[in-house]
Amino acid sequence: MIPFDMTYHRPISIEEAVQLFEALQQQGKKPLYYGGGTEIITLSRLHFVSADAVIDIKHIPECRTLEVGQHELVLGAALSLTTIEETNPFPLLTKTASEVADRTARNQITLGGNICGQIFFVKPYCRYY
Ligand SMILES: Cc1cc2nc3c(=O)[nH]c(=O)nc-3n(C[C@H](O)[C@H](O)[C@H](O)COP(=O)(O)OP(=O)(O)OC[C@H]3O[C@@H](n4cnc5c(N)ncnc54)[C@H](O)[C@@H]3O)c2cc1C
Repeated sequence: MIPFDMTYHRPISIEEAVQLFEALQQQGKKPLYYGGGTEIITLSRLHFVSADAVIDIKHIPECRTLEVGQHELVLGAALSLTTIEETNPFPLLTKTASEVADRTARNQITLGGNICGQIFFVKPYCRYY
């Protein structure tokens, strides 16, 4: 159970999301952008995170962009790690994404959430001895 009340917002454009974030802050509230929600929910239950409002960015088309150009790769912050694995736009990223958590969690976890999240994971074989 999440131990506090919060409002849920689902903007459909980046402008709307940013304006909403600023308006909530001006009202003295603490908003959070919401990707997959896995960390927000996990840390809220442990009382490590609290928010007055969450702004779900998954319904903003630009945040789901996946474009492979000749010289650039454009990935939206709301793409799930599973989508990245399945479309495989960049093999090293696919390999990295596929090593995060398990398939069920990766269906929710977003690229933006993985980058902006506060929980850091270290694989045992990455340690220095
Ligand atoms: C069971 C489990 C196992 C995990 N195992 C691993 C692992 O092995 N390796 C690993 O690297 N990670 C692991 N993670 C962490 C995971 O990869 C993500 O870092 C994390 O859960 C957040 O992803 P999310 O999309 O759900 O983000 P959310 O919970 O939605 O957000 C996390 C934070 O990022 C912020 N945020 C989200 N999106 C944006 C955005 N677009 N712009 C600005 N801020 C944003 C939110 O406000 C919040 O503060 C695990 C998580 C879980 C729940």
